[in-house]
Amino acid sequence: MEILKNYINGTWHVSREVRTIAVLNPATQEHIADVPYGSETVKDVDQAVQAAAGAATAWAQVPVMQRVQPLYRLKVLLEEHLDDLAETITKESGKTKAEAIGELQRAIENVETACATPLLMQSEFSENIARGIDEFVIRQPLGVCVCIAPFNFPGMIPFWFLPYAIACGNTFVLKPSEKVPITMEKVMKLIEKIGLPEGVVNLVHGGKETVDALLEHPLVKAISFVGSTQIARYVYAKGAQHGKRVQAQGGAKNPVVVLPDADLETTSRIITDSVYGCAGQRCLAASNIVLVGDRGGEIKDALYEAARSRVTGYGLVDNVEMGPVISKESKQRIEQLIASGVAEGASLLLDGRSPAITGFEDGNFLKPTILSDVPLDGKLIKTEIFGPVMSLINLQNVEEAIAFINRNNYGNMACLFTGSGANARKFRSEANAGNIGINIGVAAPMAQFPFSGWNDSFFGDLHGQGRHAIEFFTQTKVVIERWPKEWSRKF
Ligand code: NAD
Repeated sequence: MEILKNYINGTWHVSREVRTIAVLNPATQEHIADVPYGSETVKDVDQAVQAAAGAATAWAQVPVMQRVQPLYRLKVLLEEHLDDLAETITKESGKTKAEAIGELQRAIENVETACATPLLMQSEFSENIARGIDEFVIRQPLGVCVCIAPFNFPGMIPFWFLPYAIACGNTFVLKPSEKVPITMEKVMKLIEKIGLPEGVVNLVHGGKETVDALLEHPLVKAISFVGSTQIARYVYAKGAQHGKRVQAQGGAKNPVVVLPDADLETTSRIITDSVYGCAGQRCLAASNIVLVGDRGGEIKDALYEAARSRVTGYGLVDNVEMGPVISKESKQRIEQLIASGVAEGASLLLDGRSPAITGFEDGNFLKPTILSDVPLDGKLIKTEIFGPVMSLINLQNVEEAIAFINRNNYGNMACLFTGSGANARKFRSEANAGNIGINIGVAAPMAQFPFSGWNDSFFGDLHGQGRHAIEFFTQTKVVIERWPKEWSRKF
């Protein structure tokens, strides 16, 4: 079995760590690679960070217009290899190939947006702040920046950070999730061809010890983390303790509110896509569906029909709309959460546990599940499920719905379905979440906007993507200048 290598200083290196864990295809349990995992990866981290630090000064001196040229080449290579990368994503993460292609398109959009860095990095200039004195801001890179990624978007999430970081003149060390490390290995093989100097982009594999070594390394200046809230909070605190700039995106529990004036057919289709897309393993997956007013019964029926007819299976098989969840442990955890919801008093409207998927009996499959009348004070309503489970609750009006949302500890996304502009306006203003959708099921910001999680869904100040990324990956230097005429040498 292939043991994945690290990419450091432009060369592929065998890890110092001989212990590995297996990467399994979640639909078939096929063992597809081994990834280094253990305390010796600390030495790999040091090697990668030293390489990135060694490349940083020269890279920062390259004019920004030249720094973005490799990104144009990367865009073309990602497009040319889209099919192979999408298949890899399906094989290691379980999502369908169509979902994998969608994810890669989002990655490419970030590369495209980062190509605007020559413009985005421009700064303010004030002439004559006092007589004969000018003041201006220069944006300069930080040095070595690190990304620690989760399992659920193996091809996209590193691109929320990597292209902006290097375009701004930083060097980069990426640690992909140990559950899905192959996609980024393939991406690095493309990055090898785009003409970056050695050491500008590096990849190290591993788990907790690798992350800790990155957080503690004195040459690392900034950390971009995406993963569960528990680890995001830990990374934020530990990174700050070691003097790093940190942005840490965490978990979610996303509410979607349906008002009685919403269009029934479109709304139920969009909501089921949001809940069951990527088998619910999205930080922007709808989870708690709030039915407001007297049409709750009709909407419930429409959601049931849309969920029941969703085709579950192996993501490389045509017509399959939903793949497995990432691991056996994850499947078991989700099944236990469904059981706890029932124990709390919810009704099991559609039970997707233990489905028979012919030919893929060992896969980590769950089918769409719906629980209705879920108690508002129970565990299910508050816990991130990260699986294909919809919880339905009934409330009287938009005020109650907003109050329900604002009791949520998370704040990644809140969506509203309505025909009323006044209610939409109230909702977008008052709902306590950083990404709002109005008649949208997955309010995923485009690359030019910040991915704006709030509360326990985000720790930090500047988010990923767009202008926030440019600010995160640069530090400002203010210059105040005076050039008295009488000091000039006469020629
Ligand atoms: P995770 O927190 O388990 O792992 C994320 C990364 O942290 C991995 O690289 C992993 O190796 C590392 N890690 C795991 N345990 C660690 C520990 N104890 N100490 C140090 N590092 C550790 O998350 P996951 O299961 O891979 O991803 C799913 C989670 O990510 C969900 O909660 C989801 O909502 C969240 N997520 C959030 C966003 C967002 O934008 N807010 C996007 C995608 C996923």
